[in-house]
Formats: sequence, C-alpha cells, structure tokens
Amino acid sequence: MQEHSSRPVRQRPLLGFSGNEIDRAANHRRDPAWVAAQRASPKAAVIEIAGDKVATAGPHVQTRSPRESEELVFLGLDHDDRPYFAARAANAEESWRDLRSLAIEGTVPPAELGLLAQARSLINWHMTHGFCANCGVATRMMDGGYRRHCESCGTDHFPRTDPVIIIVVRSARGLLLGRQKIWAPGMYSALAGFMEPGETIENAARREVFEESAIHVGDIHYVMSQPWPFPSSLMIGLIGEAEDDAITVDPVELETARWFGRDELLLMHEERHPDGFKFPTRMAIAHHLILEALQLP
Ligand SMILES: [Zn+2]
Repeated sequence: MQEHSSRPVRQRPLLGFSGNEIDRAANHRRDPAWVAAQRASPKAAVIEIAGDKVATAGPHVQTRSPRESEELVFLGLDHDDRPYFAARAANAEESWRDLRSLAIEGTVPPAELGLLAQARSLINWHMTHGFCANCGVATRMMDGGYRRHCESCGTDHFPRTDPVIIIVVRSARGLLLGRQKIWAPGMYSALAGFMEPGETIENAARREVFEESAIHVGDIHYVMSQPWPFPSSLMIGLIGEAEDDAITVDPVELETARWFGRDELLLMHEERHPDGFKFPTRMAIAHHLILEALQLP
C-alpha cells in the first residue's frame, strides 16, 4: 500500500462538513498519468453534484464508475486507497438531497459529508471559471482539477476559498448574539462576515462586530474552523472579549442583537427558553463556539 502523509486528522464529527478524511495526494495529482491511472482503477468512485444536491443510497453518498471522456475532478484517496472523483450532473433527480439537509440530519458519515463539501465547492468553481479572468479566453482544467490554465496569456487560476470570520463576543453580561430578519423566529447566532483583502483575521472580526453592534473587541482567540460549501466559504470560529457593553445594532445587517446570560443560554441549549429563543444546532460552528465560550463540553 502506498504511503501518503497529507491525511487530515479527524475532528469534531458533529460539526457539519468538517470530517473530511480524504488524502488529496497533492504531490501526485499534478502528474496527468498518475491521475489517469487512478481514474482507470476498478475501484474508482465518482460523486455527481448538481448545484448543492447529490444522490444518496441509504446513509451513504451514492457513487458510480467513471465514464469515458467525461471531465472529472480528483478528490483524493480514501483509507483503502480508493480514488474518488467529482462530476457535474446537469440536473438533480427528484430523490437527490441538498447538502444543508444532510448536514442537519447527520445521517451521512462525517467523512462523506466533508468530501461532499470539497466536491461541491470544486465543481462550482469549475462551472464559474471556464474563462480566463485576465484575457477572456477559455481555460483548461489541470492538476486533477486544482488549476485552470489559460493557454492564450499563460495565467494559472486556482480554486478559491472565501474566509468568513464568525465570533462569539463575551463580557460580564454574557455572550453577544444577533439575529437576521430572515432567520427562523427566536433564532440567535454568533456575528459573522466576510474578510476583506488586506485584513488580518483579528481585524476583520473587530470590524464586523463593531459595524453590526458598536461593541469594541479586545483579545481574540481562535477556536476552530468549518468548510461551508455554499459555494466555497471557510468559517473561522473565534471567541472575543468585549471592551464595552452598550449595543447599537446596524439595521442593515441585523434585526437585533443582545447579551445573553449563562442561565438563559443553558435554557436555549436545552430548547426550553420561555420566549422560544434558540441558537443553531451542532452542525453549525456557532453552536460549538457558544458551548466553548460557556466552557461546556
Ligand atoms: Zn488568459
């Protein structure tokens, strides 16, 4: 059996999309002959993606064999060295499931859910980057799907990941949570926003919290991250210490925001808050940040 060293460590299986265990074999996939040999393997498995929907077979993602001359993105090798690929399906069939629902239900094993996140983000990137952003000419897939090359101007394009900071801010008054109008009634969550070019993670977090709530944040520490394949975000989970506690909500970003004390948060966690307030389920990183900030297991 071949030795590979890039296998990620298993982490927090209840956190949706974070359990990917595939070995991406990044050193090998630059070699077209190696990728072709993986594709020709009788064990090769293809996951078809249409938008954010996939076929399932019982509690597993459904796969099929590669078809001749179809364009495939190499995902990696599983623990038995089975090569996995992703393909774009033109349409989802009636029975196909969307990735959010699969994550909420938790029926698909965490490693497969993580693989789906990788597949969905990559397929989406190829669909939307068929032409060179520099000169407009059609680009060609390379490196098993981790690069698109423009032969006209020589530019290489690489799959993007969009970092988003998500932060639970705490003070003596409790944890700062906000809600957006479109959310389910009573739902409150951590504040979040896309990072901007030239920003550090810490500065992005301080900016977002100040914009949305007028709270200043001092110390920040990193807790965990979560791939969020809609289409290609990476949630960077943080806890920050508030330097003041008077909230002014930005009505463009949030419907409301407030401090929640520990007793209230425990009621929300047990889904028995008298006003029906709640926070996201354990498939979402906000859930784990709130528990971490409360020092709950
Ligand atoms: Zn070009």
